[in-house]
Amino acid sequence: KEFRNNVKPNWCPGCGDFSIQAAIQRAAANVGLEPEQLAVISGIGCSGRISGYINAYGLHGIHGRALPIAQGVKLANRELTVIASGGDGDGFAIGMGHTVHAIRRNVNLTYIVMDNQIYGLTKGQTSPRSAEGFKTKSTPEGSIESVLSPLEIALSAGATFVAQSFSSDLKQLTALIEAGIKHEGFSLINVFSPCVTFNKVNTYDWFKENIVNLDGEAGEGYDPSNRLAAMTKIMETNGLVTGLIYQDTKRRSYENLITGFKQEGLANQDIKISREDFAKLAADFV
Ligand code: SF4
Repeated sequence: KEFRNNVKPNWCPGCGDFSIQAAIQRAAANVGLEPEQLAVISGIGCSGRISGYINAYGLHGIHGRALPIAQGVKLANRELTVIASGGDGDGFAIGMGHTVHAIRRNVNLTYIVMDNQIYGLTKGQTSPRSAEGFKTKSTPEGSIESVLSPLEIALSAGATFVAQSFSSDLKQLTALIEAGIKHEGFSLINVFSPCVTFNKVNTYDWFKENIVNLDGEAGEGYDPSNRLAAMTKIMETNGLVTGLIYQDTKRRSYENLITGFKQEGLANQDIKISREDFAKLAADFV
């Protein structure tokens, strides 16, 4: 199973996004997918390039809109495994409305956020994930806004799978992506992915010193089916907990609750349309 293609990523050497690409490729192979069974849909930003770097169906979408596209792909073709991906600016700023509603809708797809706490592609501005006091070109005196906590928001919005990892921990990240793919419903995996060029605060060393890993001692006795415990753990660790934080295995996914004609995705519906009518329909989109 070859999920590598011959496109060379143009991320900066050392960027955390390389490991996330590798983890997606490994996880897809480990769960037994073929490239034609996977679609990777991305937004805009350095991380948005990932859809071009994986040998699968791919769509590099528009800013903050990876999730509407990914949900459409999944609902049209239920047999595809769909991974949506993008940065923290993409998913938690311009795309936050989509993120919250995709979470509560619970369409069966995996959303991997490559969280570097900054806007990298536009050369280093404060994002909703930047710490208070964080100095960038857009906040030379330091950010005076509070940091957004996507994991707390996800739990509040009714998430059925919430996980977090660190791009240096390829083993954990790969296992979480596999679990997310297998989960019935929407899985959010936020990944700390250091921007080595513009973020000199949240570095690899900083994360290694501050992360609380549920795969270690911190996870002893932890029950990821307990939503209150999950919220408490996120708040106790100031959002720096990694591992599987919460999973609800009982709630059915959106497409498995649909009744009526939409039970089948468009790709499997027997739609009869003449060549002429299709041409007219297609012309409307030009
Ligand atoms: Fe990665 Fe930052 Fe370089 Fe973008 S600017 S490729 S996020 S290191």
